[in-house]
Amino acid sequence: MKIISINAGSSSLKFSLFDMDTESVIASGLFERIGIEGSCYTIKCRGEKVEQEVELVDHSDAVRILLEKLIDLNIIESLDEIDGVGHRLVHGKDKYSSSVVITDEVIEDLDKFKEFAPLHNPANILGISAFREALPGVTMVGVFDTAFHQTMDETSYLYPVPYSWYEKYGVRKYGFHGTSHRYISDTTAKLVDKENLRLISCHIGNGGSISAVLDGKCVDTSMGLTPLAGIMMGTRSGDIDPSIITYVMEKEGKNASEVIDDLNKRSGLLGLSEYSHDMRDVLARADEGDENCILARDKYVRSIVNYIGQYHLLLGGVDVIVFTAGVGENSTPIRKLVCEKLLPLGVKIDLEKNNIRGEITKISTEDSKVQVYVIPTDEELMIARDTLLKLEAR
Ligand code: ADP
Repeated sequence: MKIISINAGSSSLKFSLFDMDTESVIASGLFERIGIEGSCYTIKCRGEKVEQEVELVDHSDAVRILLEKLIDLNIIESLDEIDGVGHRLVHGKDKYSSSVVITDEVIEDLDKFKEFAPLHNPANILGISAFREALPGVTMVGVFDTAFHQTMDETSYLYPVPYSWYEKYGVRKYGFHGTSHRYISDTTAKLVDKENLRLISCHIGNGGSISAVLDGKCVDTSMGLTPLAGIMMGTRSGDIDPSIITYVMEKEGKNASEVIDDLNKRSGLLGLSEYSHDMRDVLARADEGDENCILARDKYVRSIVNYIGQYHLLLGGVDVIVFTAGVGENSTPIRKLVCEKLLPLGVKIDLEKNNIRGEITKISTEDSKVQVYVIPTDEELMIARDTLLKLEAR
């Protein structure tokens, strides 16, 4: 059984082709700068990498070339071998609590919900349309970033604002990175045999969110109505006092969207360090004694620790903390700094074991009260698994 996982962005299309009998990646790659000059693709297969500049006017071009290349590069013999296509979809509001077979209704909903994800939902529709055109009879499944968080109750998802905003406009917490948090929850449940497992899943990359998960169900998560809320990120502020927005509007003569743009693109690590959004750069300069970078690093650590503390109480204790995504999987120093601050929870890590990148590893000591793991996330596999389940149910 072969399934393609697709993550379509506004000018990119990422794919992974899985053999679902072994859950292994047969080929993967990225089509970039779609609709922009200098478009190109990269396809990785059998340990080799093919890179090529090619004109990609739109997503249909990317999908057509992708399918042609799968055959040209002898990755598959015929398109009939592709049993299903899974799409990462960003915003399903509160209508979608699990993955679905993509129908016209799903596409209409993606369009309806686009005001909540103006960059992502339209791109997702482009990806779906391109595959519908290229592989007409093939079942497609949509896997929403927001779905995993639909188990939150209203004390978690409602904001203390006029209730009518929720009723009239859907103002509530939706949460994101749900497919990653679900992958982490499923993988942790296989590694740690415990009933009613209390998990804090820390997805910390350029974007980042933390989820409290009880027995495989999300209880709360740090992102909100949009991915701007929660922990401090590469360029996003995370939680701030909302009055800052009107205050800065007045001071700098900006409108609301311009200030929101500052909070999305010029804040977080970049904002405080005044140097870089990339944790590697910030850590390198902090090690040289740069005060802004030290501050950015420490504030970042603090914001993660604050959420872990909050979720520890919410879950009535915690059995496992997992670090994942770019920073979580790769940064030995950030994991160390976070875990040092978790000593009051009985967290102890083994510094030798913590010295790893991108491998499933238990980094806590045997006498740590909380087990701490590094688990590389795999949203693509989760999408392929959901697609397979839907295909089998047909
Ligand atoms: P995105 O949210 O865009 O999916 P990723 O999960 O890929 O982001 O994370 C990207 C971030 O991971 C980079 O911006 C970088 O800060 C961080 N990162 C990657 N490798 C390391 C490393 N070895 N040490 C520290 N940070 C790293």
